[in-house]
Amino acid sequence: MNEEVKELILKKIKEYETVIISRHKRPDGDAVGSTKGLHRMISAAYPDKRVFLDNSDYAAYLAFLGDEGEKPTDEDYENALVIVIDTGTADRISNPRYDKGAELVKIDHHIVDSSYGDICWIEEERSSACEMIVGLSDKTLAGALPLDKTSASFLYTGMITDSGRFRYRGTSPDTMRAAALLMEQDIDTESIYANLYMDGFDAVKFRASAVRMIKMTENGVAYIKITKKFREKHSLTLEEASNIVSVMDSIKGSLIWLAFIENDDKSIRVRLRSRFVEIQPVAARYHGGGHACSSGATVYSVKEQKALLKEADELLGRYKKENTGWI
Ligand code: AMP
Repeated sequence: MNEEVKELILKKIKEYETVIISRHKRPDGDAVGSTKGLHRMISAAYPDKRVFLDNSDYAAYLAFLGDEGEKPTDEDYENALVIVIDTGTADRISNPRYDKGAELVKIDHHIVDSSYGDICWIEEERSSACEMIVGLSDKTLAGALPLDKTSASFLYTGMITDSGRFRYRGTSPDTMRAAALLMEQDIDTESIYANLYMDGFDAVKFRASAVRMIKMTENGVAYIKITKKFREKHSLTLEEASNIVSVMDSIKGSLIWLAFIENDDKSIRVRLRSRFVEIQPVAARYHGGGHACSSGATVYSVKEQKALLKEADELLGRYKKENTGWI
């Protein structure tokens, strides 16, 4: 079934002269890597096609992957195939014109209730959308798009960021086979890791102070609250403050960890992460969603923030009662 939808997407790519590719807002490595990777694969296979990336926001920490080039005009949309990658729901697409093309393709790996698109290729169990895009290079498919060093570098970036460097539960034998295909393109993995994971001295010092701000609920949910005032005091961008979620990712017994980051408009971004126990349903109840163990949400008051924390704590309490052997 998935082979059929992959071939259908490859057929559409072949048919259309103009292809426009978009991703989700507040992009991560997978969103940028998958879109830039597919852009490169199509451009290399079909040099005469007009292939665009069209998104309205960016991530400074991914600037090393390069910019997105020229934007399509409204006219370009008229006969275009639009492909949206790594985006569960339409409201998260970083492109208000996503529905202005002739046909819309969705390629994604998020858990969702409502979808969009004329053609949907969804594999929720995949560790990254980049892993899916690598699948389009499979030579047994009609119209397969070959990889090269450039596309492989983009795709590898997304694979390692979304799989937590091949540690998260979605990492499968297929993930490793896809990574191997990318490595065969002679990519510079050392530079990719350095670009992604080296931090400025100020950021390292901030992380050290953030460790001291970690709090723990009764059942072991670790959390950090970062107010706008705190961000401003430390001259942190929202993106830098948001990255703090990772300082809580290896505390024994803390199978759920949350970062609350106050936005400029006073709403609070919540980054939810977990191990063994699935946190996604909690995110879905607070204007969010994502993956089983890695989700995002937004709360609009301190009361809502407390309620979310309580739900997470109760979920972990139940999990620990019903399961043994967790660390
Ligand atoms: P984040 O903590 O923002 O990195 O999000 C973790 C995962 O959840 C990513 O795969 C996001 O695409 C997804 N996600 C974040 N926010 C939302 C949302 N409001 N709705 C659905 N998925 C989300």
